[in-house]
Amino acid sequence: MEFRNQDTIAAIATAPGRGGVGIVRVSGPKSLSIAEAMLRKTPRPRYAHYGNFYSASGEVLDQGIALYFPNPHSFTGEDVIEFQGHGGPIVLQWVLEATVKLGARLAKPGEFSQQAFLNDKLDLAQAEAIADLIDASSQQAAKSALKSLQGEFSAQVNDLVEQLIALRIYVEAAIDFPEEEIDFLSDGKVAGQLQHILEQLHRVFASAQQGVLLREGMSVVILGRPNAGKSSLLNALSGKESAIVTDIAGTTRDIVKEEIQIDGMPLHILDTAGLRDATDAVEQIGIARAWAAIENADRILVMVQADENIHPEDQAILDKMPAHIPVTLIHNKIDLIQKQPGLVKIDGKNGLQAELWMSAKHRLGLDLLKDHLKTEMGFAQTQEGVFMARKRHLEALEQALALVENGQQQLEVYAAGELLAEDLRQAQQALSEITGQFTSDDLLGRIFTSFCIGK
Ligand code: GDP
Ligand code: ZN
Repeated sequence: MEFRNQDTIAAIATAPGRGGVGIVRVSGPKSLSIAEAMLRKTPRPRYAHYGNFYSASGEVLDQGIALYFPNPHSFTGEDVIEFQGHGGPIVLQWVLEATVKLGARLAKPGEFSQQAFLNDKLDLAQAEAIADLIDASSQQAAKSALKSLQGEFSAQVNDLVEQLIALRIYVEAAIDFPEEEIDFLSDGKVAGQLQHILEQLHRVFASAQQGVLLREGMSVVILGRPNAGKSSLLNALSGKESAIVTDIAGTTRDIVKEEIQIDGMPLHILDTAGLRDATDAVEQIGIARAWAAIENADRILVMVQADENIHPEDQAILDKMPAHIPVTLIHNKIDLIQKQPGLVKIDGKNGLQAELWMSAKHRLGLDLLKDHLKTEMGFAQTQEGVFMARKRHLEALEQALALVENGQQQLEVYAAGELLAEDLRQAQQALSEITGQFTSDDLLGRIFTSFCIGK
């Protein structure tokens, strides 16, 4: 409780705009006095009070339900009063201003969640899961965020931390008895434990990796000459008419962005105006943007027409691709040459990894493409048991894996107990960053300010 906030914070907790109900949330030591002034009575804990909300000068601001949660039994662990009034922006602003007149200050983004974290109501991975649950754009993403919020991810991390601590204590005890150290270390128990921890770390990592994919998805850029069928593919994948499909070459002037999902994995697709050498200023801007998108893509799709030879312009594009970004060459319009859909893996130049035959217009080979994208991204067929995770969690898990693997080597090759113990200690520290037991203020600040206000 050493971090307990002395301020009382207030914010509109419901989404901006109009709604049936709008909530102003207040947390901190002045919550009760604010509630007493605005309700003109002392609220009973955890009891729904229906009545007027008054301003400091006695005006009626709204009517609704007030709920009082004394500490520590509240979301933040502090005294909390919630005013559930009408969901209009003006009326909510009045209620918020009244709380500020009575001594609250406006909450910063994520500050309620941060207080909950500082008061041990949630660990860091759970607090992040709240933001991810609210931001989830697919059912799978929401389900796995809920799992993380309920502590499934944290429980696995804590279990690993405890195993690392127990093993380190055992190894350190061995070091303290030098005449028996070698026996201790070579009795197979340490090696067995290390192996067990490594396997579990790999499992948690794989699951977290799926969680990151669910959260962040994959970014795909579609390239190709005008009329190849890029917009048609975009439409076929998204099932909407968002890009313009026409017969006039060069209709898509700028980058068209589309967010779709395949089996819950978000795809951020960019359809570019193409990369041909343009003299037109507008087109040049489009080309520069296309290159920037290519550099940040997880995968490039180059689309050509199956009924034509590869055009020199397309070949030039394929030759210019950065080698580190995987490319799939799509031969579209197979209906014109009566060819069956198909996919072949190749080991070509400049990242070229696969060729696919399909028809965007007639939706032939669409599933081949979807499966191809999922497989290449390492997206598992089933998302059962996946919990939501972030890149920073993956980094911590990766670090712990490398340390434990290194420790294993210290043991096997050098029988170096002290170095092994140090690796175990650092691995434990890396994992503790996930749940926030061991976190810098800097990191906390970065995490919580990315939340919205009122969360
Ligand atoms: P973009 O310029 O690359 O975006 O190409 P569009 O998607 O605008 O398509 C150009 C033209 O090709 C349109 O008339 C589409 O209907 C047509 N088209 C797209 N895909 C196919 C296909 O698989 N088969 C056939 N026959 N025509 C297609
Ligand atoms: Zn297009």
